[in-house]
Amino acid sequence: MITRFAPSPTGPLHVGHAYSAWIAHDMARAAGGQFLLRIEDIDRQRAKPAWEAQILDDLAWLGITWDTEPVRQSDRMDVYRTALDVLWDKGLLYSCTCTRRDIADAMGAPQEGAPMLGPDGLVYPGTCRPDTGAMPCPPRPTHGHLRLNMARALRANDRMNRRRAEDAGTLQFLEVGALHRGTVVPPPEAFTQRIGDVVLARKDFGTSYHLSVVLDDAAQGVTHVVRGADLFEATPIHVMLQRLLGLSTPIYHHHDLVRDAAGKRLAKRDDARSIASYRQAGWRADDLRAALERRLVAP
Ligand code: GLU
Ligand code: ZN
Repeated sequence: MITRFAPSPTGPLHVGHAYSAWIAHDMARAAGGQFLLRIEDIDRQRAKPAWEAQILDDLAWLGITWDTEPVRQSDRMDVYRTALDVLWDKGLLYSCTCTRRDIADAMGAPQEGAPMLGPDGLVYPGTCRPDTGAMPCPPRPTHGHLRLNMARALRANDRMNRRRAEDAGTLQFLEVGALHRGTVVPPPEAFTQRIGDVVLARKDFGTSYHLSVVLDDAAQGVTHVVRGADLFEATPIHVMLQRLLGLSTPIYHHHDLVRDAAGKRLAKRDDARSIASYRQAGWRADDLRAALERRLVAP
């Protein structure tokens, strides 16, 4: 078993992160497996070395140890670029220059009906999606975002699936977390209607959370992805990318989310709940953990 914790060094760790890291760490340790760390720093504007140092220090204080040198996403840009080239050459990507505003305006058009909210916010209305996919593709443009043409991705997966043995190409994953248990098989409409043409490369990052997380989990040999239930809806995107890129799908464990006393989910920017603030207030890690696990409310 190989699990991982993948914080973004864009702010302090809070108790929600600690909870997630503890679960992933303990699962691996109990199974005699490995626990790995990955620094998700594709947002070069917001990622700061000082946050990274603080995260490592907080993890040590929490009693969490990791097995190999942390992987840093900013060191893997060439891997992301190569995967984008592969998807582009399959005709599955298109460039999009829409702003958030453009998307909101397109969604606001009366014929569009009620706006759909997907894992990344408003489901993209397809403004820039080309009608025809004339092949061979022109060279990959360097301006704008790159979106996944989800309808085509489904068809491409079907085609690949037919050629493959058994269910190797099936869009499904095994969930072993507290909230769902068993095989999750999202229907095709979930991909086209609830998720839509997600951004796989932001023009300012050159990649995206979805693309990087899939490639990195595969490269690190992660067998069990442990993360918060807020990412459950994004998992079909990751499974789709695994199929398209010929990667195997790990087992998923989405855990419940830590809340504040008012029942609101803790946000990363909620500095008052940072691990550092508990440390400063004289907490011991064991007590923090016990208090947290008792009610899953930040103490
Ligand atoms: N960097 C992501 C986060 O902190 C990790 C998500 C994941 O575990 O897939 O939200
Ligand atoms: Zn667009």
